[in-house]
Amino acid sequence: MENQIKDKWNEIITYLREEYVNNDILFRTWIEPLEVVSYENGDLIISVNEEKQGDSLNLIEKKYKIPLQIAIEIKTQEQVNIVFKYKSQLNNERVSSYINTENLEEKYPFLSNGHSFENFVVSGSNNIAYAASVAVAENPDGQVYNPLFIYSGPGLGKTHLMHSIARYIIQNHPDYIVTYTTSEDFTNSVVEALRTNKQKGDPTATSNLRKKYRNVDVLLIDDIQFIIGKDSTQIEFFNTFEALYQSGKQLVISSDRPPSQMEQLDMRYRSRFNSGMTIDIQPPDFETSMAILKNKQEQSDIKLEDNILEYIATNIKSNIRDLEGAYNKILLYARFKNPNGQITLPIAEDALKDFISPNEELIITADYIIEVVAEHFNLDKDTILSTKKTKDIVLPRQICMFLCSEMTNLTQSEIAAKLKRNNHTTVIHGVNKIKEAIHVDKELDNTIQVIKKKLNS
Ligand code: ADP
Ligand code: MG
Repeated sequence: MENQIKDKWNEIITYLREEYVNNDILFRTWIEPLEVVSYENGDLIISVNEEKQGDSLNLIEKKYKIPLQIAIEIKTQEQVNIVFKYKSQLNNERVSSYINTENLEEKYPFLSNGHSFENFVVSGSNNIAYAASVAVAENPDGQVYNPLFIYSGPGLGKTHLMHSIARYIIQNHPDYIVTYTTSEDFTNSVVEALRTNKQKGDPTATSNLRKKYRNVDVLLIDDIQFIIGKDSTQIEFFNTFEALYQSGKQLVISSDRPPSQMEQLDMRYRSRFNSGMTIDIQPPDFETSMAILKNKQEQSDIKLEDNILEYIATNIKSNIRDLEGAYNKILLYARFKNPNGQITLPIAEDALKDFISPNEELIITADYIIEVVAEHFNLDKDTILSTKKTKDIVLPRQICMFLCSEMTNLTQSEIAAKLKRNNHTTVIHGVNKIKEAIHVDKELDNTIQVIKKKLNS
């Protein structure tokens, strides 16, 4: 059937042009780029080429659907119902329905690091996040938890879980279109599209981008904190979020903090992000760390004694990425230092001496505080040190003053110098402001606790 129509396609559109369109420009713009894709149960799928035709699917449908159906009937004696689809959407659909394990990573490069539910070690610090992720992966229709919002400090398994969700859906629900993106990639594509629009003087690039992110069933976006505060990217993301959310599509978001602590985020979105399920992952306890190390052992041909694993698990507590880093470093070190021999505890200690310095206290400097505060508020260090006096900069700056006075031995004048203030009274004022505010402002108090945690980790 589709072949019959494909064979006669030229005849069909020539008829349409003569009988109905009668205008070369319109014909070339709207009709010529259309392509017959397939025929199923009375529906003839015709693709709209957004590179040539922009996001004009509705317009084409309104103006040309019936005339085309008539032209087809006249030329082939067949009655069909035309369904227009964007070419990119069809490509996505086809990709997901052919998927098999061998070419999975080719089609979805982000899966190449092998993260899956099977190799995620479940423990008391992450079991709720794990269970919610599995629930969403099994029911990706936006009905269980939408959005699923996972937050934690770095290296605790957010990306691992997000990849596992994506992998599970791709394998078990091949008809779902799944898109995973990092905030960084999302930001780059928005910036790139805006630039292309500007160069070409038309909005095709952004509308293509929109189609890419809005024609999906499941959108996973990793490390959302990097988008918040970046105006154009943030707006683009919220519009995408809203469009998908409204049409019941599944969203999964990860971040370094809960929505309630995203100070720069509109209240509306804080509550939107919170409206599904918000879950954190805690740093691993000793048992979890041991389980993860043993899991790594199973995948490696070099075995480490339990006392070495215990040494790693006892000393590396901050996160799992560091834990794995320490493990790998011992293997690498042993390969050079002692290629054929046994890996002993002293070798392990030696290998990790830069990693672990049990007797050395972490020294917190003013520069470090400024850096961490700037990162937390998505600002440049230089902006904090500048003379700007807008509210969104004064607050982080005063937080720096407060933390410097609490966590370092610097005098007020030294703190003023570090923050490039001319006068130490500015520091006194700033510190007092925060001291008073944290008694009444719960949210500010939380923010400062979060930053302190970051400083100490
Ligand atoms: P995040 O995205 O939170 O910064 P990742 O997901 O990148 O952290 O995790 C860091 C590393 O630790 C990855 O190699 C990941 O596979 C591993 N990892 C984290 N949590 C677990 C876990 N529960 N079981 C096994 N490996 C884990
Ligand atoms: Mg991550």
